[in-house]
Amino acid sequence: MADTASIPDVLVVGSGPAGAMVARDLARAGARVCILEQGSGPPPGTRLLGLLRRKEAMHIAPGVLLLRSLRVGGGSVTFYHTATPPPLAMFARHGIDLAAALDRVLAECPHAPLRDDLLTPIPAQLMQAGQSLGLPWQLLPKMINLARCTHGRCPPEAFWSAHTLLEQAVVQGADLRTGVQVTRVLFDQGRAIGVEARQQGTLHTFRAGRVILSAGGIATPAILQRSGVAQAGEGFFCDPLRIVMAHGPLARQAHDISMSAGFFNAEAGFMLSDISIPAHFFRAFTWAAGRPDQLLSYGHTAMIMVKIRDDIDGRIDPHGRPWRRFGPGDRLKMRMGVEQARAVLKAAGAGRPYVSPWVAAHPGGSVRLGELLDERLSCHSPNLHVCDASVIPEPWGLPPTLTLLTLASDLAWRLSRDGR
Ligand SMILES: Cc1cc2nc3c(=O)[nH]c(=O)nc-3n(C[C@H](O)[C@H](O)[C@H](O)COP(=O)(O)OP(=O)(O)OC[C@H]3O[C@@H](n4cnc5c(N)ncnc54)[C@H](O)[C@@H]3O)c2cc1C
Repeated sequence: MADTASIPDVLVVGSGPAGAMVARDLARAGARVCILEQGSGPPPGTRLLGLLRRKEAMHIAPGVLLLRSLRVGGGSVTFYHTATPPPLAMFARHGIDLAAALDRVLAECPHAPLRDDLLTPIPAQLMQAGQSLGLPWQLLPKMINLARCTHGRCPPEAFWSAHTLLEQAVVQGADLRTGVQVTRVLFDQGRAIGVEARQQGTLHTFRAGRVILSAGGIATPAILQRSGVAQAGEGFFCDPLRIVMAHGPLARQAHDISMSAGFFNAEAGFMLSDISIPAHFFRAFTWAAGRPDQLLSYGHTAMIMVKIRDDIDGRIDPHGRPWRRFGPGDRLKMRMGVEQARAVLKAAGAGRPYVSPWVAAHPGGSVRLGELLDERLSCHSPNLHVCDASVIPEPWGLPPTLTLLTLASDLAWRLSRDGR
């Protein structure tokens, strides 16, 4: 028989931004928290074949790759640190007032635009070119601790990640277990009693008073389906992007910061920003675009990311395999954004532009608030919650991290208030 004194109050599945925040806040409020994270060891590299092998890159449609991070810290380890506040009205429509939680999150997480000395030549030039065309291109808020950046450089420790929250959670007594892949939630008489998980090839049972799934927009709906929630994963968004590239007059800098500046066209449903990608991705995209003449131009290529707010469509199956169809509306938005990016590159004096294949980086909306979740983010059972990008209720198109931190802080606050 299980020793109930050793059973945690809460199991959090996944240590990305949402999982780390809800775990830290609950531990701070006195709960016994255990975090189960599939990733382990030092962060693996970003080579495409390795990403595909580890399922950190997946094909979701012919020629379309989706990227995610299956590591301690989740997507916060590889993201571009752009901080966009949550659309409070969207969540209010679904019965959640996030204003107080947002204040708490903003009080502790950096979210300021880069200082002038940190803006490198290509992002500065693209901003100037965008503004010369009348676009509202401006510096974007970044989750970077600028006080740690000196002499035009930001050291690695200046870049925010969920590791800070995880360290704080552990200091508060949380038990962080890595290399544990949760397969399904276990129920008894309609209540969640824990999870089944694979660790070093063997299945184990972890029991808890409450289960919070924060495994991300792809894994969480798959876990739910394997737990008997068949509708999870019916439709998702992924905020697909293409990168418009052109040989330019300025040299790229090793310390270019992606998404230093840009703008959101909320009405048209797309955003544009500068971006900097690793050389191996550049070569793969340049080859795929049929521009072998540019393969050696990495050091002088200006890049603009066009990201759209796509429709909710497709399906994620119980094995966590997503597939998507991009309809005429999605294609039109992408076409409009790419045309605008071409015009900005031209105004920046760059050469003949070419366009990468579609890539998706924000899977979410796969276990939607208001459909499968109530305003306590409960699903199927009052003590089973979902707290990650899956819960976003409508088409998105924004950097989600600040929203997920806010949702997680709000959930932890409510669970602590109402009694664990
Ligand atoms: C290249 C790139 C750039 C990005 N840039 C930005 C940006 O600038 N700003 C922004 O806001 N967002 C950005 N994002 C998106 C952002 O990283 C994600 O939206 C965010 O991390 C999602 O957080 P999450 O908590 O929902 O889940 P995740 O961060 O995906 O975390 C889920 C965690 O669960 C773990 N897990 C998965 N399955 C299991 C399982 N079965 N058992 C146990 N653990 C499991 C994973 O290993 C992972 O640690 C970017 C994404 C990419 C790919």
